[in-house]
Amino acid sequence: MTQVEDRARLILEMRRSGIVDKTILDVMERVPRELFVPETFREHAYENSALPIDKGQTISQPMIVALMTLALDVDKRVKVLEIGTGSGYQAVILSHLCRRVYTIERHRELLKQAEQRFTDLRRHNITSKTGDGGLGWPEQAPFQRIMVTAAAADIPPVLVDQLAVGGIMVVPVGEHRDHQDLLKVTKTDNGIDVEDLGPVRFVPLLPGTGDRQGY
Ligand code: SAH
Repeated sequence: MTQVEDRARLILEMRRSGIVDKTILDVMERVPRELFVPETFREHAYENSALPIDKGQTISQPMIVALMTLALDVDKRVKVLEIGTGSGYQAVILSHLCRRVYTIERHRELLKQAEQRFTDLRRHNITSKTGDGGLGWPEQAPFQRIMVTAAAADIPPVLVDQLAVGGIMVVPVGEHRDHQDLLKVTKTDNGIDVEDLGPVRFVPLLPGTGDRQGY
């Protein structure tokens, strides 16, 4: 099967599983996921599974990327903060749907590779940096949307602070390695509303930057 056919099959599979948002499916059909995975996994790029990337991290399962993007309820007016750039795949998907994407990765090497992909794919509305995403990006706050793509122990208060009132944050929360709950947090005038979107499995949100601490 060719990659174009593989890609079409994956989109069909997602549509059958209930992702009916045409805009998101169209973007996912256009973005070449094979460019975001290591050479050895290229032939698996259009399987609906998470795949290993460098530094023991993963690129999320396409279905989860679709579900999180859908839950974030984005449009061309919003400015989004993503925590955990990883391969850069989710950032690129978001960049087609939002005004601007800010993304933070703790591993400098992963970020370098992701930035090369942003350039190659001419995604000029993505701004990225190495750092501890748990601290957010105060200079650019508030954000109308925040997506955390690593599992937090709790809803990070710092990120809630950097969310605009009426804004939405999607974040996997839980201490368990093998499963967390995907939470949709909406900031209101007097606090937050939290909706549980079901179980997910993410690598943990770690403190500090990977290069300095060696993991
Ligand atoms: N969104 C990515 C997948 C994320 S995997 C993609 O589309 O490919 C989670 C990523 O979060 C990993 O790359 C990990 O290094 C990063 N990460 C973990 N803790 C972090 C932190 N505190 N700040 C920034 N990035 C972090």
